[in-house]
Amino acid sequence: MQYISTRGQAPAVDFKTAILTGLAPDGGLYLPADWPRFTAAELSALRGASYTDVAFEVIRRFAGDSIAPEQLRTLLAEAYDDFGHPAVAPLVQTGPRQWVLELFHGPTLAFKDFAMQAIAPLMAHFLAQEGREMTIVGATSGDTGGAALRAFAGRAGIRVLFLFPRGGVSPFQQEQMLELCSETTHVAAVEGNFDDCQRIVKALFADEAFREAVSLSAVNSINWGRIVAQSVYYITTCLALGLPETGVNFVVPSGNFGDIYAGYVARRMGAPIAGLTIATNENDILARVHATGRYAPTALTPTITPAMDIQVASNFERLLFDLLERDPAALCQLMAGLDRQGGFTLPEAALARFRAGFGAEAVGQQACRDRIAATHSATRYVADPHTAVALEAAARTPAGRAPQVVLSTAHPVKFNETVTEVLGFCPGPGQAPFAPRAAGARPEEIANDIEAVKARVRALL
Ligand SMILES: *Cc1c(COP(=O)(O)O)cnc(C)c1O
Repeated sequence: MQYISTRGQAPAVDFKTAILTGLAPDGGLYLPADWPRFTAAELSALRGASYTDVAFEVIRRFAGDSIAPEQLRTLLAEAYDDFGHPAVAPLVQTGPRQWVLELFHGPTLAFKDFAMQAIAPLMAHFLAQEGREMTIVGATSGDTGGAALRAFAGRAGIRVLFLFPRGGVSPFQQEQMLELCSETTHVAAVEGNFDDCQRIVKALFADEAFREAVSLSAVNSINWGRIVAQSVYYITTCLALGLPETGVNFVVPSGNFGDIYAGYVARRMGAPIAGLTIATNENDILARVHATGRYAPTALTPTITPAMDIQVASNFERLLFDLLERDPAALCQLMAGLDRQGGFTLPEAALARFRAGFGAEAVGQQACRDRIAATHSATRYVADPHTAVALEAAARTPAGRAPQVVLSTAHPVKFNETVTEVLGFCPGPGQAPFAPRAAGARPEEIANDIEAVKARVRALL
């Protein structure tokens, strides 16, 4: 299996290199040269298989010769072993033909665990094979940091530092990240917003001498390994719903377009997916490009769904590549427009393809709160705000006879302030109501300054 860059200027690489490198050297994103496909018979044969078995069947098709099958099976069994539910990604019915896919039973209670738990052992395995070490630096708005700290802690030769905006993550998320710090895994609060954190990380990667000196790597949502691990639960869901002839409609709370793009990958592999609806908050660039064809970031609005407060949806470039019929020159032209004119307009044929495969809905904060309340009063189900954005988008886009599945990307306790404000209570990770702890340890602080962060990273070695 070969991976090519969306920008067309980097040599094709294998799975191992795509995962260890993250971003392609030409600034593009890696994706497979051809889509591996399940035949209908192969899919049917997976009915009743465990989550890990389906993950193995999906990921081995992308991994090619990079890892021995038995080794991959062992790593994946370990990856999903400490999820708090035997189904790993269980479905809960919330209405006629409507389900919520709970992706928050992993160790840090958000769907980021699905990808991190799988790519951490894979990366560690590949590094050990090559006798290399690695320093992972990233920016987080809350969930990615926790999942990465948890998945990479204690892995020989891998050091981790995540930056988060001071005061910009929920108290639960901050507490969780501080608890997950270890000798090799660290977080620091930056005096600034998420964009400042991301700008610093980008500057570190742009400095080639520094990058080489500390063996810098990234596990942000453009890493191909994360996408492929996330495509698994779309397939287990189709299997659990009996591979219906109508296909399944998925509604996905979206930010960086990684999660819903994984649904697109599952569809390319042959999973019966009828529709993929992008649910956004007020930061609605994806809904706007769907409605108008114009992709143009605007100022960021902070909301009660911070994981979706994103203006440039990095993984959209991967879909764009296919919408442009895999023409890297056409893609580079649009990306140049984004850099120079602050946006681009999709060609008509590409927009038509986008609309044929995807729907999109933008949901405001009041509608999100109302949906948390309405869902609870109708079904006693407690949704986190991100999930509620997708529940509201689902209510606006009836799926006809096809089953409709809303992805629940976080446990409500991670955003318990908003949930408590709406419902008067919030369930904890067990059955008991959540009782907030007294403010605990304070995070390490770091200046909003590239050189200060570089010095901090060097000190990790
Ligand atoms: C990361 C995240 C999202 C957005 O996922 P993308 O892959 O960036 O589209 C949505 N909800 C929660 C809770 C998240 O942590």
